[in-house]
Amino acid sequence: MHRKVTTTVRVKLHSLTERKARLIEREYDTFQDAVHGDDANLYSATKQQAGKVRSNKNPREDTEQPVVLRNDCITIEHDEDTVLSSWWFKLPIYNPERDRGDSIWVPVHVPEKDTHLLQDEYICDSELVHRDGEWYVHLVCTRSVAVADEYDDVLAVDMGAKWIAVSAFLSDRDTQFHGAEVRRVREHYKQLRKSIGKAKIRSGAQVIERLGDKESRTVEHELHQVANELVARARERNAVIVFGDMTGLRFDNDKGRYVNDKTHKMPYAKLATILTYKAHLDGRECLPVNEADTSVTCWRCGSQNTSRDVQGRLECGDCGLEDNADKNGASNIGKRAVGKDIQSPLSTVGAVVAQPETQVRLEGTNGEIEPANSPEDVGLTLSEGSPRLQSWE
Ligand SMILES: [Zn+2]
Repeated sequence: MHRKVTTTVRVKLHSLTERKARLIEREYDTFQDAVHGDDANLYSATKQQAGKVRSNKNPREDTEQPVVLRNDCITIEHDEDTVLSSWWFKLPIYNPERDRGDSIWVPVHVPEKDTHLLQDEYICDSELVHRDGEWYVHLVCTRSVAVADEYDDVLAVDMGAKWIAVSAFLSDRDTQFHGAEVRRVREHYKQLRKSIGKAKIRSGAQVIERLGDKESRTVEHELHQVANELVARARERNAVIVFGDMTGLRFDNDKGRYVNDKTHKMPYAKLATILTYKAHLDGRECLPVNEADTSVTCWRCGSQNTSRDVQGRLECGDCGLEDNADKNGASNIGKRAVGKDIQSPLSTVGAVVAQPETQVRLEGTNGEIEPANSPEDVGLTLSEGSPRLQSWE
């Protein structure tokens, strides 16, 4: 079985001559005019892309759009013999002196860990981005990776409100709670915002803006940690990963990531994308399972006659189960993944769980001690670039 993995490699343009810098700036500015409806002289393929951005996104006047570079118009090459730079990028631009489309070779810096991704057959439509006075090209690299067909267990992941993720193995319900750090970080910044709120409004708004940026970077870092923990955990038992599919979560194939139609407090779509990406790179399947009612259903008897208290405990009115609510949810997600009553059971995508459900021992949990959260880095060394994860969703 193969899965498509999309990585965005960020290369930075450097040592630009005045002439090249001027041509790039001109192309970028003209692209902005074009996406807002002006007729403009652009490299012809780029002009078409501007039309697409305009009709698909209809961007607001006050936003800047990255210049979309069609994959057949760009090339990246490695050349050790050049003194200025060992990597060069061929960028399509409109040349006003010649009054036609042209290309310029610009020196770029490529992160060492991403160099293996820069093969022609991997590179898709990419973007020229202007940020903090610097020019970048975001090269979108898509490749096919092999994932295993057979597994010995199921690691079910519930992305909860209290914890970023709770994971439970289907075979013995061994459970871990992930991501306490994120919660702490968010609370920390909430407190900071409150104290800033009392200061002068204008400077306060600016500080909050900066905090927001820092906060999202910190949270993103934590999401990567959580995903690393989950993948390492699944690897220990050769488990397939399944996660609860939040309402409105869908996979956008063009963007290679999950998106939420609804705004959630936590970036579940982002975690789903990171987790799927890392699992696939690990040769492991990772699939969403419809999670409707999994939080209110008793995993042991299937009853929905349940109640949840403030401590996050779930009680079943029928069989008397008393369980951690998130653990209960994760267990239901795991059961669904191998069950018959789900929309897309594992078998339909070709994944086989060697351990049949009948052998899976499901017992009560009264008096069980919840495992402590272990936020330490599991030290995965997946060779990866930055996944194509940009906005909060
Ligand atoms: Zn029950």
